[in-house]
Amino acid sequence: MKPWEANIRRVVPYVPGEQPKGSGIVKLNTNENPYPPAPGVRRTLKELSIEDLRKYPDPTAGALTGCLADYYQVRPDQVFVGVGSDDVLAMAFLAFFNSGKPIIFPDISYSFYKVWAELFGIPYETAPLDEEFLIRPEDYYRENGGVIFPNPNAPTGLLMSLEQVEDVISHNQDVIVIVDEAYIDFGGRSALELLERYENLLIVQTFSKARSMAGMRIGFAIGGRELIKLLQDVKYSFNSYTMNLPSLVLGTEAVRDEKYFRDTINRIVDTRERTKRRLQGLGFSFPDSMSNFIFAAHEKASASELFEALKKEGIYVRYFRQPRLENYLRITIGTDEEMEKLFAFLESYLGNMA
Ligand SMILES: *Cc1c(COP(=O)(O)O)cnc(C)c1O
Repeated sequence: MKPWEANIRRVVPYVPGEQPKGSGIVKLNTNENPYPPAPGVRRTLKELSIEDLRKYPDPTAGALTGCLADYYQVRPDQVFVGVGSDDVLAMAFLAFFNSGKPIIFPDISYSFYKVWAELFGIPYETAPLDEEFLIRPEDYYRENGGVIFPNPNAPTGLLMSLEQVEDVISHNQDVIVIVDEAYIDFGGRSALELLERYENLLIVQTFSKARSMAGMRIGFAIGGRELIKLLQDVKYSFNSYTMNLPSLVLGTEAVRDEKYFRDTINRIVDTRERTKRRLQGLGFSFPDSMSNFIFAAHEKASASELFEALKKEGIYVRYFRQPRLENYLRITIGTDEEMEKLFAFLESYLGNMA
């Protein structure tokens, strides 16, 4: 062993889904939106000039935070933006989880939580989902250093009611509770309405899923002024200019077009509900997803074999080689046309098995 090796921080990194290149690929593996960003985003992108890139962007990200504050009817000093919600969540871990006591999150959940906890040396415990993959609020009643969970949860797609979310928050008023609402727009009720009552609540959302802008990297947190100020302090201690100019300008355009946002979500939700019926007919079972993906297991087919067979066909879905998850595939809702390609392949694959 070389002497410097004793001083290295070793981490097991998060593994993002593949981004395959090439035409004809049906990409249902990273929960991206199959529809393009709002027309105003396209227009504004064309109007960006090379001169705009010469100067530093606005470090306060004022236009974007102001626009989000209007949209969600909070004050601008209650909004914090970052480079995707991954960036916002990482800063929240740094800012809020310093008690030395273990933080709690579900055992089956967004796998980045564990990675950040390990990267930042934050102790953690996981709370197992029940047999039906549901989060049990009682598991979060014990003493802890903070709580985080996605609602809807990933990769199950299951939504907790607002009453259950409040139950967790009200039992944890000594610590910060982060609700990761990456998929809330696909059918859930946001915890935003609880903000008035709980100063320990932080809600994190993203432009990557419902707003069709994963490539732009925009995420945000909404919370009380105090929490937002603490996040700003961490950001300014790290990198004053996390948000580049195109994301500030294009993100603002995306928020302005509420009609496009709602229409796109409705299309995805319609396709999701049709997909549920089709998959059921093909012998799949799944938790009742309220997100833009379905976590499905087949009564006969092995998920890992099906995953490989789909990939050979250019159809990418997500497979997690993990206890309790190894029989499932996480299938992102694409366009109707993309889903038809998936169904056609599944029909022939499962037909040949019989
Ligand atoms: C996609 C996702 C995120 C991160 O999205 P960004 O692209 O970094 O905004 C965070 N949490 C969950 C649960 C997600 O699925």
